[in-house]
Amino acid sequence: MTEELFRHDGYQFEFQAQVESIDGELVVLDRTAFYPGGGGQVCDTGTLDDYLVTEAFYDKKGDVAHRVPGHSYSVGDDVWGSVDWNRRFDLMMGHTAEHLLFGSLRREVPDLEISKIFISPESKYVIVSKDVSWKDIRKAVVFANAAIRDNLTVSRIMMSRDDPDLADKVRIKLDRIPEEEEISVVAIGDIDYSACSGVHVMETSELGMIFVDRKVSAGKDGMAIHFKVGDTAADSAMELAVTCLEAAEAADSKPEDIVKAVSNMKKEIEISRASLRESSRALLSSVEPRNVNGTFVYSAMVHGADRTVMAEAAEKVKSKGGVAAFVSYGETVSAVMSSGSTKTDCRMVLTEVLGKFGGRGGGKPDFAQGGIPDPDKGEDLLEAMEDAIVKSLSLSNIN
Ligand SMILES: [Zn+2]
Repeated sequence: MTEELFRHDGYQFEFQAQVESIDGELVVLDRTAFYPGGGGQVCDTGTLDDYLVTEAFYDKKGDVAHRVPGHSYSVGDDVWGSVDWNRRFDLMMGHTAEHLLFGSLRREVPDLEISKIFISPESKYVIVSKDVSWKDIRKAVVFANAAIRDNLTVSRIMMSRDDPDLADKVRIKLDRIPEEEEISVVAIGDIDYSACSGVHVMETSELGMIFVDRKVSAGKDGMAIHFKVGDTAADSAMELAVTCLEAAEAADSKPEDIVKAVSNMKKEIEISRASLRESSRALLSSVEPRNVNGTFVYSAMVHGADRTVMAEAAEKVKSKGGVAAFVSYGETVSAVMSSGSTKTDCRMVLTEVLGKFGGRGGGKPDFAQGGIPDPDKGEDLLEAMEDAIVKSLSLSNIN
């Protein structure tokens, strides 16, 4: 079995070892400081002599295999290993920060469970069993950063399964640990105990700062809480703070009132949308049709009408055997067409007309919809639709 140097000393990143076995580009050594990944933390990379180690992982025998493309080692060779320390330290910080952050979140939400952890140089997050409010996240982050300033010792304690402290204090998933194994518990001062065999820093001050910068739904698993640690946490916090100040200015609000201001704006928008829907509905139902060769043609242009309202009105026209051409304009221009006449094929007419304005659409012979990119061409679009409808109803002139 490979002697796992990272188990005893997370800070050893250079080591001498001997090649024990080789399988193509995979090299197994008698000892290694390369962490093979596990517990949600990705593996180390680095070098063996002048060769790159692109990956390290546990092989089927439980040894640490190093992927060393292009190596020329033979069994028995001495090697000098070097782990990419910047990457490793970032992962150690991330892993320790994850313990501290989750422990702090659990102080605010005692029944919170952890379902997954992911620690890589690019991304660090913990998936928790349910949504956590920003209010609780704020309290947890304040607590975690105070623990960082207190410079608590991070230590490893070995416990047996029947240790009374285990059930009392320690976050653990016993079913994931083999019966015969002693349990390795990572303690942060006396505020957090978690069963873990990964690599961690020795003191919380090494973390510098923890900052939660995002939460994203993880579907049935719950909520992914993304965090940053160290200098990247400070950079991210500053950037987001400035974004918040910018948003407050744009919303004519004080920064501390921005959440309320945005929520009021959303309510106002909902109310205006509802009233716009009502007036569009009224306008479209009062359109006077023109008789084109025995078929009633309804056409109208409505500012800001949504497609659903236009579609509703168009369906009514269709059911009466008429033809409808409705255009809505605003920031975009959209068109809806329906036909209760076999002479007018909506899909054909509309896609051809939209094409002339650089737009796109689709549908069926009795109903079609689409839009064009130029917001100033609404009127021209409606005219072109009317002309095409008249043509399809075999008339050369709308009058
Ligand atoms: Zn850990």
